[in-house]
Amino acid sequence: RLDAAEKLVNVFGADRREQVVHAVDDVSIAVKQGEVVGLVGESGCGKSTLGRVVAGIHAPSEGRLLWRGQDVESASAELQRDARLKVQMIFQDPMSSLNPRMRVRDIVGEAPRVHGLVSGAGVKDYVDDMLLRVGLDPSFRDRYPHQFSGGQRQRVGIARALAVKPEFLVCDESVAALDVSIQAQVLNLFMDLRTDLGLTYLFISHDLGVVEHLSDRVVIMYLGRVVETAPTDELFREANHPYTKALLAEVPRIDTRKRKFQPVKGEIPSPLDPPPGCHFHPRCPFAFERCKREAPALKEIAPGRHSACHLNDGG
Ligand code: SF4
Ligand code: MG
Repeated sequence: RLDAAEKLVNVFGADRREQVVHAVDDVSIAVKQGEVVGLVGESGCGKSTLGRVVAGIHAPSEGRLLWRGQDVESASAELQRDARLKVQMIFQDPMSSLNPRMRVRDIVGEAPRVHGLVSGAGVKDYVDDMLLRVGLDPSFRDRYPHQFSGGQRQRVGIARALAVKPEFLVCDESVAALDVSIQAQVLNLFMDLRTDLGLTYLFISHDLGVVEHLSDRVVIMYLGRVVETAPTDELFREANHPYTKALLAEVPRIDTRKRKFQPVKGEIPSPLDPPPGCHFHPRCPFAFERCKREAPALKEIAPGRHSACHLNDGG
């Protein structure tokens, strides 16, 4: 559970900051080493907030963050440092996350130097190696962020994250700002890095199509709650939750598979005042009386699959 004051500021301005909103409510997710988990939902569903908790940027107001099976908050300083370094976040907009006054060699080289991973004359080769890893020419080390295209800048951001030798990347809409052709290249880079470095990912996107080809498992969120989780191929073959079905209807298809469902209609309600019962009921084509009163629990519907919908109880 995480109380997102920043969202309040966006919605109401500073004067309403005292009101508490639960951006993420009673969500539990586990990511195994080497796994790629896609976290999907519309903007405002709490997925970025959850990502920032996982990356250690925000502390949850209730609940725990475990790293290597241990509670980070009460862990030794050594484990806390390990969690901070080994989990890195890649943001949506590389322009705002890269210091415009720093050259690439400092952007990429600073953190590994501070953490003692490299020193002195070794820094140049270290940075060059990171740039090559992300498909950039090492001569780019002397340039500034504004001298790059969007795709190149995102590669610099990835090189910066890789420079501290992470094991787990939290990618929040990391390709959303890029042209479609560039998106595919950066997604391929993420997959190459997974193979080469054995990385684990939490891949956050509003777009199910983006996570389809790189995720082993998908977690669907709606207004701060997990509504469905399933292995990716099973989710695409047969989604359970009405919200997932609506999201799937929005994924462009090159085959001629018939669309069985309609895209989700209407605006996502404010997380400040979510609808009672099942948060999805005002937009759900299958909603019935119970949905307005009672929140459906997330239940196992098949091995490795969970869904939160009253229809699974026979309505
Ligand atoms: Fe729709 Fe009801 Fe299921 Fe919610 S619980 S998704 S409103 S059918
Ligand atoms: Mg977001």
